Amino acid sequence: MTYDVVVIGAGAAGLMCALTAGYGGRRVLVVDHANKAGKKILMSGGGRCNFTNLATAPANFFSGNPHFCISALKRYRPEHFVELVERHGVDYVEKAPGQLFCADSAKEILRVLLTECDWAGVDIRLQCSVEGVERRGEGMQVLTSLGRIETGAVVVACGGLSIPTMGATGFGYDIARQFGLAVTDTRPALVPFTLTSQWKARAAELAGVSCDIAVATIRDGRCLGPGRERRYREPMLFTHRGLSGPRHRLNGRRPRRSTPGG
Ligand SMILES: Cc1cc2nc3c(=O)[nH]c(=O)nc-3n(C[C@H](O)[C@H](O)[C@H](O)COP(=O)(O)OP(=O)(O)OC[C@H]3O[C@@H](n4cnc5c(N)ncnc54)[C@H](O)[C@@H]3O)c2cc1C
Repeated sequence: MTYDVVVIGAGAAGLMCALTAGYGGRRVLVVDHANKAGKKILMSGGGRCNFTNLATAPANFFSGNPHFCISALKRYRPEHFVELVERHGVDYVEKAPGQLFCADSAKEILRVLLTECDWAGVDIRLQCSVEGVERRGEGMQVLTSLGRIETGAVVVACGGLSIPTMGATGFGYDIARQFGLAVTDTRPALVPFTLTSQWKARAAELAGVSCDIAVATIRDGRCLGPGRERRYREPMLFTHRGLSGPRHRLNGRRPRRSTPGG
């Protein structure tokens, strides 16, 4: 088999990359060892996928190379993705200002990406495991359970390490190391609150009560978080099992002390 581009990983990143390369006239193959494309998309946003945030800005991202986010967001803005989902007739709602979710199901976002891949002539092979990637002359060779694939370029879109049951592996990091790229240490970025049994019992007494709160992660007396706004203001719900709310997973560096405050 010969392709111009082989994309490893049929998640949001891999599918978006594949359809863009396909529309650019490349022969594209996406391979994924999972039995279904975009599993993480389906579970995102509580099953309704928060597919963009209109206020997305470079300051919202941690990066060793902040210029990357600046140029990427200049070329592809949230409005571009909104225009795409509208073209596919996806109904959406604005939950908090600028925060857009599917009105029905995250399946709609996966449908958009797979339809676009189809229109762009992208081939997708699932349940295909990748055993290795090697340079071959001017191009590359991908060794898979379907056999050897010759290609001009390989895109590694294997995702991060979170939720291995959804197919996540460290394969992308292994390939990066194989080709001599520096790999930074990984650590959780989205961290759910865990409560002691004493606090869990207190929360259970309030089960069903919701209120607006501010959440901050504090280290050495400093609030951590991207941008100037280092506190997240969100509704929070007390449940029998603890606390529930979208922002009780903190985007930031590994928290040492999390303080929900009223
Ligand atoms: C609970 C939860 C809720 C979320 N909610 C939102 C939200 O509302 N909005 C939002 O923007 N983001 C959300 N996210 C984050 C978002 O889902 C991810 O950032 C995004 O899906 C990552 O896409 P990806 O393509 O980089 O990786 P992935 O979706 O992880 O895709 C990687 C693919 O590579 C495949 N793969 C891995 N290793 C191999 C291998 N060796 N060979 C072949 N294939 C391989 C995997 O099977 C997988 O299909 C949420 C995440 C979680 C966990």
